[in-house]
Amino acid sequence: MTLIPHFIAGEETAAADRTLPVYDPATGVAHRRVAVATADEVRTAVAAAKAALPGWRATSLIRRADVFFRLRQILSERTEELAAVVTSEHGKVLSDAAGEVSRGIENVEFAAGLAHLLKGERAEQVARGVDVHSVRQPVGVVAAITPFNFPVMVPLWMVASAIACGNTVVLKPSEKDPSAALWLARAFREAGLPDGVLNVVNGDRSAVEALLDAPEVAAVSFVGSTPIARSIYARASASGKRVQALGGAKNHMVVMPDADLDAATAAAVSAAYGSAGERCMAVSVLVAVGDVADRLVPRLQQAIGELRIGPGDDPTSEMGPLITREHRDRVASYVAAATAEGARVVVDGTRQRFDGDGFFLGVSLVDHVRPGMKVYEDEIFGPVLSVVRVDSYAEAVELVNGNRFGNGTAIFTRDGGTARRFEFDIEVGMVGVNVPIPVPVGVFSFGGWKDSLFGDSHIYGPESIHFYTRSKVVTTRWPDHTPAQIDLGFPSNR
Ligand code: NAD
Repeated sequence: MTLIPHFIAGEETAAADRTLPVYDPATGVAHRRVAVATADEVRTAVAAAKAALPGWRATSLIRRADVFFRLRQILSERTEELAAVVTSEHGKVLSDAAGEVSRGIENVEFAAGLAHLLKGERAEQVARGVDVHSVRQPVGVVAAITPFNFPVMVPLWMVASAIACGNTVVLKPSEKDPSAALWLARAFREAGLPDGVLNVVNGDRSAVEALLDAPEVAAVSFVGSTPIARSIYARASASGKRVQALGGAKNHMVVMPDADLDAATAAAVSAAYGSAGERCMAVSVLVAVGDVADRLVPRLQQAIGELRIGPGDDPTSEMGPLITREHRDRVASYVAAATAEGARVVVDGTRQRFDGDGFFLGVSLVDHVRPGMKVYEDEIFGPVLSVVRVDSYAEAVELVNGNRFGNGTAIFTRDGGTARRFEFDIEVGMVGVNVPIPVPVGVFSFGGWKDSLFGDSHIYGPESIHFYTRSKVVTTRWPDHTPAQIDLGFPSNR
């Protein structure tokens, strides 16, 4: 069986004292194994990153940019190959996996503009004969820890900007679908990235903890579930590291009575069930305002009936399996509990049967959901859409703002005034107006509020340049032939 190794200083290595199974979720078969890094292997990777730092930060911006231009070419030309790697371990359909690669390319394109992004500021004559300028310098060794659901895009969210800024990186991808990270490391190497600038260590909690405790690691980027994000933030910041830890979500899509219901139906079904609901920006709650639920729910029910669920590598499939058997069963348990909690299960995907042992689950639609029910409160991360009925816009806003998560939200309306008010009122980091999954394009930054992000920097885009660099401010005076004077007072610029 193939063993997925680490990638340290350009070498694929693994002591492999301990390994974990990697499943093909469409068959339920463990078809690969991944090495779990020992504390020593993590230390070696961190040391490799540290050793590569002086050379990489001294590399000219143009040479650094060359790597990203070549990487963009590799990713564009071999998207299908990489998408197949993703599908074989994650299970999502190939077109969705290709979409993820395409969004990751946006981060590479952004990084290719590093010469422009790293420009500092300058002020002339702040005092007589004195100038001040600022530069942004790399923070050092960056640890990047990523979740299973976007094995290409989320690593690129971090790695592209971190490397562009002159840092070196140790990436710890999800142990559930680690091959894509290895593919990326090889592609970076092919694009001309020197050995040691990007290292990959595989494993689970123990590998993460070894990274968090390494004194040479200066900054930590994490994306995953909220409990882990919270603990990563606490542990890494306690030792003085810079941390951004993005957590889970419960995204609400508000549908106003004046909305285009065909558009809202298509958007809700796509955003709730795409990638089997395993997206941090998936819509999991539809907030139906006024009488709209009675018109919308039958439309959703009909659209759901036409969805084709099957293996991700079957071009006729629109939705693939879930990531593991345990996760599939956990998602199903929310649907089973919803009726007892007083909700109405309109479509029960847990009854759908599939051939074989793949981790498939049909899609579910649950109406008359209310806060306090488990199906509402928890992040389910599966193909379950809840409908909460409210009487007014104000009630909808109160519901969304009262939720502990604040990753993404959307409003569907034809009224510009309502949309503008929503944008102003809503306490969520990313907002869509008639756009159900408002993942910002790569030249903006991505991040939620509340329990969806710990730290003060959003990820990729302009905020990533700030996160992965430290500012240095230089005050300069050159001899100008005026006589020197001793003055023990605090320097004043007036
Ligand atoms: P997860 O939190 O289980 O794992 C994320 C990473 O943390 C993995 O690399 C994993 O190996 C590691 N990890 C797991 N347990 C750990 C522990 N106890 N200590 C230290 N490290 C640990 O998340 P997941 O199941 O892989 O991904 C799904 C979650 O990620 C969902 O909650 C989803 O909303 C979230 N997510 C958020 C965003 C966002 O941008 N906010 C994006 C994608 C996914």
